[in-house]
Amino acid sequence: MLCPRCDQQGQVELVVIKKTGERVLRCDECDALRQNGDEVMKSNLVDFSTYVAQFGVIDTWDEIETINAADK
Ligand SMILES: [Zn+2]
Repeated sequence: MLCPRCDQQGQVELVVIKKTGERVLRCDECDALRQNGDEVMKSNLVDFSTYVAQFGVIDTWDEIETINAADK
């Protein structure tokens, strides 16, 4: 899946935020995040780091688990 924010440079991956168990879609290029199932629109995108900060997640690479690696 390609990212709508960084003009399709990035690959969107399905990841789990370990702390919450939530599955979200994250771009490996620009860190755009959107809820799984949301329509692909720029207005649905937030920064991954901003989103997880509300759960107290700081070290994001240790706190997420990739379910679906990008289909490169
Ligand atoms: Zn992107």
